[in-house]
Order: sequence, then C-alpha cells, then structure tokens
Amino acid sequence: MILARSGTPARRPVTRQVFQPAVVPTHPCEGGAPKEPDAREVFSHPTASKRVALTFDDGPSRENTPRVLKALRRAEAHATFFVLGDRAERMPDLLAAAHEDGHEIANHGFSHTSMRSLWKSQIRDEVCRTHRAIVAATGQAPALLRPPFGRYAPSAVPLVGGLGYDLVLWSVDAADWKAREPAAMAKRVVQAARPGSIILMHDREASSAEALPMILAGLKRRGFEVVTVSALLEWD
Ligand SMILES: [Zn+2]
Repeated sequence: MILARSGTPARRPVTRQVFQPAVVPTHPCEGGAPKEPDAREVFSHPTASKRVALTFDDGPSRENTPRVLKALRRAEAHATFFVLGDRAERMPDLLAAAHEDGHEIANHGFSHTSMRSLWKSQIRDEVCRTHRAIVAATGQAPALLRPPFGRYAPSAVPLVGGLGYDLVLWSVDAADWKAREPAAMAKRVVQAARPGSIILMHDREASSAEALPMILAGLKRRGFEVVTVSALLEWD
C-alpha cells in the first residue's frame, strides 16, 4: 500500500509531561461498574485484644442522637451509626456532626423495609439512595450495610457486594427498644461483651441515650476499648 504524502514537513514530536489526576473509580451507587460480589457477613470479630464495637441503628434522631454523641465524646469512644436514608436526607447536619467527631456513618437502607420482601432493583435503590445521602452529608463513601431487622435472602449477598458493601450484623443485642430500666440494660450489655463483640443499639431510643454513659463506664471498667466496626475489623 502506498501512503499518501501529506506534503507538510515532518515535525519532531513534542514531548510534554502530562500529569494525570489519580483516577478515582466511580462508585457503583453513582453509576460506576459493579464491584466484586464477595461481600462478608460479619456478626462479630473475635480479637486477642479487648475491643468492642458499639453500633446505633435507625437514626439520626433530632432528640437523641446529640445525647449519644455527647456521651461518646465524654468517654472518648467511637461508634458506628447505621443510618436510614430517609432520615439522613432530612438531617444531614447530624451525620456531619457524628462524622466530625470521628464516628463511622454506615448504611441501614432507606425506608427500613425488610430486604427479604424486596426485589433486587429495590434493594439496590434502598442501598444506593442512602449511600448518596451519606456521601452528600459527610463526603465519605460508606462500605458497611446492616439490613433492617438483620434480614436478607442469600441472593442479596452478592448484590450488596457488587455495590461495594459488606454486611454487618451483631453478636450482642441491647434490646433497647423494649428496655424499661436503662441501668439494667447497661448491666446486661456490659456483662455480655466479649473481645470482638458487635453491640446493637438504637440512637432513636431515649433508653439507649440514657444507658450509654453507664455502658461506656462499664466497658471501660472491664478494660474494653470502644471502636468503630471498620476499626474492629482491622484487628487480628
Ligand atoms: Zn433498624
């Protein structure tokens, strides 16, 4: 094949150093490709060291979340808040305040519907709408999901994994929603704690806000450090 001559004199190629910005892959909840569908299902994370994770579901709450944050600040403890998307959209300031205090903001779905009764597309909507509300409030992409009521079908695991999430359940239930006596509840939770426990509470429950200082003091007495779920999962 004969190449046509362009008739223009050959130029030396200009070498220019191009600084490429680091490519941040788009999150699956923001239109990016799905991730590896290998989500972990975590109930606890037994460690050699005395650490537990306190988790607060169903918030934020205008009344009680600030009380919970105050108690955590006083005890210099960090917790994980599994927030609901519909509340996160309405109260982003509370998410931002918790994030600024060093707490972890994680995903509890949008409408607190059992994921067992949802289609895959609905699960994706529940997770991703909440994901976007959390990113908008904190600037940080969450990677932990607690399905409402801890319920989900096995088929939800790869779906959630594809969205970049691990599933976090719990090993100690404070049962704060039915606790009449915060002191008794605090005692029960402190006694049930083991190294690596993930403790379920609700920051919407006044009883939890009331019991929390006692729980934190009790855990400290037993030599436990209170950390976020992500921090707990990092320890061997
Ligand atoms: Zn819940």
